Amino acid sequence: MHKDFAAKVSSSATSRRSARKRPVPQLAIAWRRFSLRGSGRWLLAALASLLLIWVLAGGGETSVASTSITHEEWIGAEAVQEAAAESSWKRELIKSGDAAAPVLMRMGYSRSEAYDILQAAKPVYSLAKVRSGRHFSGRKGETSAELYYPVDYDRVLYLTKSHNVWKAEIRPRTAFSQTQVFEGEITDNLFTDAARAGMDDRTTMTLVDIFAWDIDFVRDLRNGDRFRVLTEERFDAEGRLISSVIRAAEFINQGETYRAIRYTLADGSVGYYTPDGTSMRKTYLKAPVKFSRISSRFQLRRKHPVLGFTRAHRGVDYAAATGTPIHAVGDGRVVFSGWKGGYGRFVLIRHVNSTHSTAYGHMRSYAKGIRNGARVRQGDVIGYVGMSGLATGPHLHFEFRVNGRAINPLNIKRDSATPVPATQMARFRAEVEQQKQAMIAGVNKLTWG
Ligand SMILES: [Zn+2]
Repeated sequence: MHKDFAAKVSSSATSRRSARKRPVPQLAIAWRRFSLRGSGRWLLAALASLLLIWVLAGGGETSVASTSITHEEWIGAEAVQEAAAESSWKRELIKSGDAAAPVLMRMGYSRSEAYDILQAAKPVYSLAKVRSGRHFSGRKGETSAELYYPVDYDRVLYLTKSHNVWKAEIRPRTAFSQTQVFEGEITDNLFTDAARAGMDDRTTMTLVDIFAWDIDFVRDLRNGDRFRVLTEERFDAEGRLISSVIRAAEFINQGETYRAIRYTLADGSVGYYTPDGTSMRKTYLKAPVKFSRISSRFQLRRKHPVLGFTRAHRGVDYAAATGTPIHAVGDGRVVFSGWKGGYGRFVLIRHVNSTHSTAYGHMRSYAKGIRNGARVRQGDVIGYVGMSGLATGPHLHFEFRVNGRAINPLNIKRDSATPVPATQMARFRAEVEQQKQAMIAGVNKLTWG
């Protein structure tokens, strides 16, 4: 925890690399938890308001140039009013076997008021059954009160009392959201450069996953490559992070620009698509290893930039730390798993297109469940990088075989998964435009188009 409000707010504005920041909510919670009385409280409120104004006006730590916050809803009137409210927030856990009424009574409501609340909720959401493990939260004053019950991931039942009448409605669960644009350039390695741009490691990993079908992050990155990422973090009414997603991303790798937009199809499934609606997913991942070294930041500089595919060497080598997970590049079945001469611990997968197979050598160990005949899905971890067999250092030897012959994986045609359906293209395009504008608003150095 930070020591004061200013640190809290301004550090979030600069998005330092360490922990995930939760600007508003922390603030709101801090407010809620304060229970000072009398003048001290008002003095504090005034002081904090001044700090907020100062921070909003651009005070505090100077922002990292490559990071900009484009859109914030975190100083809504609501949050400020809360500070002045007489009552404090309460959360009450719903225990196993609990009904709504006893929980509400533990929160200080009378039996009859609990009944009124249930009645008010009924038309929009029945509280006859409540889920254990969830919480009711809210606050109540002399004449007014509010209550939240999370209905599901996206929605909350919101109950308010005014003039002694309870009203209920279903609201989006998000109380706060924050979108940010991060931009950076590869000068050393992705993780360090992304952290420098303000991204946390989890977001960086998501970025790698989004482009996993197009970019080989172990072998293909070059100094001068650029990335731009639009993230959105959502917080619930109690200030807890409920989701953090990449809404759009752009990666320029060796002069080639790749773009991805997060989109929810009409059936509710979520995926990443190119701006023209093509799925980012393809039959094969670009690489069986995502990271060369993730834990030791000191040796991240690539030591073997291009150990290429030559006639003598029928595969691609991935220098990576011992224990780095190895992923199946496509769906298929394990047709061999065991020791194989110079390959050491070796796995061969036959893919859905049965003329295609992929081979993985020098493993330290196999992943659980990897044996002859096992089914694997694209992205499944099949084993871990090692140096078994004839290997001078830890690396993965990877081969893509067509009809049993190793070929250069670059020559493999990788079909894209189902695109955005034509009937949804109008909505999709509108969303693309929106994300594009958000990206441009963040940083103007690159153009979308
Ligand atoms: Zn090799």
